[in-house]
Amino acid sequence: MNAVIPIESHPRVQSAQSAQSAQSGPSSLEIRHERGQREVFCGLTGIIWLHRKIQDAFFLVIGSRTCAHLVQSAAGVMIFAEPRFGTAIIDDRDLSGIADANEELDRVVHQLLKRRKDIKMLFLVGSCPSEVIKLDLSRAAQRLNVQFNPGVRVLNYSGSGIETTFTQGEDACLASIVESLPNSHNQELSSSPAPQPPLEKNQQRLLVVGTLADVVEDQMQRIFKDMGLSNVQFFPGRNSQNLPLIDQNTVFLLAQPFLADTAKRIEDKGARRLPAPFPLGSEGTSAWFKAAALAFNITDDVFQKAISAPKQRAEIAIAKHRLLLENRKIFFFPDSQLEIPLARFLSRELGMELTEVGVPYIHRQHLAQELELLPPKTLIMEGQHVEKQLDRCEQAKPDLVVCGLGLANPLEAKGYTTKWSIELVFTPIQGFDQAGDLAELFSRPLFRKEKNAA
Ligand code: SF4
Repeated sequence: MNAVIPIESHPRVQSAQSAQSAQSGPSSLEIRHERGQREVFCGLTGIIWLHRKIQDAFFLVIGSRTCAHLVQSAAGVMIFAEPRFGTAIIDDRDLSGIADANEELDRVVHQLLKRRKDIKMLFLVGSCPSEVIKLDLSRAAQRLNVQFNPGVRVLNYSGSGIETTFTQGEDACLASIVESLPNSHNQELSSSPAPQPPLEKNQQRLLVVGTLADVVEDQMQRIFKDMGLSNVQFFPGRNSQNLPLIDQNTVFLLAQPFLADTAKRIEDKGARRLPAPFPLGSEGTSAWFKAAALAFNITDDVFQKAISAPKQRAEIAIAKHRLLLENRKIFFFPDSQLEIPLARFLSRELGMELTEVGVPYIHRQHLAQELELLPPKTLIMEGQHVEKQLDRCEQAKPDLVVCGLGLANPLEAKGYTTKWSIELVFTPIQGFDQAGDLAELFSRPLFRKEKNAA
């Protein structure tokens, strides 16, 4: 079994740290930028996992037939009850005047909310057709909020392919919720916040930010409890009424690396982000919990005791996949913004060789701890020029390519083994008990290919 070297004593980290001291900037990594044609999904995709999480929310896409097709074909297979998303299709002919379009939107919303009493939060989701861009959805949300207050909270955000890529839809959605929260306990909320135990002087409350599968949230909640932290909230919650209180007594941990706007709005309300790697793999998850332990002055003994059993389970589960993945080359095309934490996990805990790590956008502060853990000289490419990147992929001859659905088929046809990045967003991969499953998402395609070739 291959042991994982502690972060601080890892020779690569030590050499990265000594190299850093000789250079300006947070890391000696080579980050290049590229602009050109992109192959990514739009932000509407986020509805697929957001509607599963916030169980009393409805996502009404104001869009074209293409948008309806994307949302239904991507998410339709998962529906077994009444769906909690739909599309109000706006065509040219609907827009003889903006007033008519607003009337039509109000009519659709009234019809929906009259029929569906279970909906407590309604998102009007903008898209990219020019007819939709002309509509002011934030004013529409305000207008409808007045009409349906206090039973339903109406918010809006954009999932447009012009403004957002793939996971940015979640960021825009969560940012719209934070924006609608009051600035202090004393201000009135249009729907009730979850009751919170009163804080003593100098006490802080912890907020975990980013959509996590319920099973992951429950596991994390248990570990926080074992660390002695009972005042931990997850955002978004399973229920839209369960809104966090965010103020200067709030510290927060990001559970996802693509929440730049959400984090900014939380900070604007006085909260403080705890810098940490993301909870992927045994090492990342340990460091993520450690950041909370340090902020709340939890002793190392208590911390180690709380994480030791799940950490050991994670290391055992990862070890068998390392046998298959070690020294294999991996190439990331930019898609989900999870690429850097995944690359860190695959290189440090599974021994994979990183040929190129493509990322649509890098938030330097949120990813600072992750970047420090990557092997020096890792090539990170921010942005995309898909043709040039395909050429580099061909030269690198990777054993495994992580990419969007649009590139997977052509690459498979050329003989590459691929992993769809979208699967990494749909699958519960965070935390100790998912670390083995995460490793398996990468080892399975290689294993399958080798079995077929034998
Ligand atoms: Fe709709 Fe634009 Fe997304 Fe296409 S890219 S599905 S038009 S929001």
